[in-house]
Amino acid sequence: MAIKSKRALSSTVRTSYDLYINGQWHSPHASERMECHSPLTQELLTTVPESDDADVDAAVQAASKAQPGWANLSAKKRQAVLEAAADALVAQLEPLALLETANTGKPLRESRANVFTAADRLRYYAGACRVFEGVVVPVTPDITSYGLRQPLGVVGIIGAWNFPLNMFVGKIAPALASGNTVVYKPADTTPVTTLEIAALFGSIFPPGVINVITGSGAGTGAAMVAHPGIRKISITGSTRTGQRVMAAAGATLKRLTLELGGKNAQVVYPDADLDRAAQGILLGAFLNQGQVCTAGSRIYAHASVADALKEKILALVPNLNIGDPFDANTRMGSLSSRAHFDRVSDYIATGVREGGRIICGGHPVRVEQYPKGLFMAPTLFEGVDPQARIAREEIFGPVATFDSWDDEDAMFAQVNAVEQGLAAGVWTGSLTRAHRASRAIQTGRVWVNCYNLYPSGAAFGGSKASGFGREDAFETLLDFTEVKNVIVDASETARGFYA
Ligand code: NDP
Repeated sequence: MAIKSKRALSSTVRTSYDLYINGQWHSPHASERMECHSPLTQELLTTVPESDDADVDAAVQAASKAQPGWANLSAKKRQAVLEAAADALVAQLEPLALLETANTGKPLRESRANVFTAADRLRYYAGACRVFEGVVVPVTPDITSYGLRQPLGVVGIIGAWNFPLNMFVGKIAPALASGNTVVYKPADTTPVTTLEIAALFGSIFPPGVINVITGSGAGTGAAMVAHPGIRKISITGSTRTGQRVMAAAGATLKRLTLELGGKNAQVVYPDADLDRAAQGILLGAFLNQGQVCTAGSRIYAHASVADALKEKILALVPNLNIGDPFDANTRMGSLSSRAHFDRVSDYIATGVREGGRIICGGHPVRVEQYPKGLFMAPTLFEGVDPQARIAREEIFGPVATFDSWDDEDAMFAQVNAVEQGLAAGVWTGSLTRAHRASRAIQTGRVWVNCYNLYPSGAAFGGSKASGFGREDAFETLLDFTEVKNVIVDASETARGFYA
């Protein structure tokens, strides 16, 4: 299969998009369209179709038709295609990063980093698909049993709005590497880079291997979950959405990967390097304006170092540099949508009502270039009751709580008291403490003396109400396959059961 040349992207958002099905722009059956607004100006950015059942079906049919051909390519050829896709992304770094920032409000420097992360996922899975192995059991000298790993078929993938670009690429990479074809739905507010990348990849992947449809979760997303032609749903979203999807997927017995929300703690021991911890804690709490499932938004510092740590954190807050997201020096941009900004503002008001004290932030920030932008100051509370809503519920914005502890077991109990279990940070100079805390904290990931690192190959996913399944790692490939057991009897004569 020839890998054709790459198309150059424009950094201007198109005024409207169609669906991307079977390797081309596809006029939707549905007449209804959804509006996406700029988080920076609140003006209309673009419109996308609200796909109906017929559109979902068209995408599934295209994916279904393409699947056997794609699965039957040698792993070496699939590897070459995935690597070409990674090259195409990096070649379009600047326009893609500009589009991502225009659609989400996140700083351009983060959008650029997201493009590299996405390309790295493709390269990781390009290599990983070469090392699939099955178990061979020599049952007798004549009889051999072996496990043949085969793709599931058509898989449905549903993304959230906080990292639209690298979520799209990172989620489709293992599905494609293992020979599946994909129907993907981005979140309704942030479809731009997903659609542009689908079209960019249109000249690299065979038609029908990647199909992107747009629409609401309740309409289009639910139709994907119900569609009998889709064998698995992998979704990133809130815990409530995960519950709905799991209940609906039962009707067609779909496999699931659920990457859901988090309410993550960062624990600081008395022997921690406090300067390093202060920087890492800020990154953990405020990366992407805190709109990160792993946001380390509950800070628990040992009482003996709590005041010193707090002072160091507060001294670093001005470096977060809120402003025009297109400025290379900006570290914090706009929240992603008006509705979300209102939700975060409500949480801040609730935190105050419930008795929390704001020690920094707690208010919107006016950025001259974008007076209607949705900028929120990084906000830290202290004195928050463990039962308060801001201590228990995922805020998904730049809001964190600061608390102290002196009894380790009581601290672990408090860290684990929330319903979700996605990630945690541990800051300590002691290996013994690092290992003890990593075992005691009930999450799918623990970062020790670092935070918000997502290297390819490191299994990422949640426990408890943060969902199940792992992404970014080798086992993700396995999750997109099933094992067919083949038993071969190579004996020369019939066994004569009925002779
Ligand atoms: P939502 O749960 O609202 O939506 C996630 C996706 O699911 C969207 O594409 C949404 O569509 C779709 N959806 C909603 N309802 C249904 C349904 N009934 N059936 C099928 N699809 C549906 O989450 P957000 O987009 O608001 O994202 C934020 C959440 O995602 C946070 O809770 C965050 O923690 C979590 N998240 C988890 C991560 C992880 O890896 N664990 C990483 C990043 C975020 P639409 O938006 O178009 O309505």
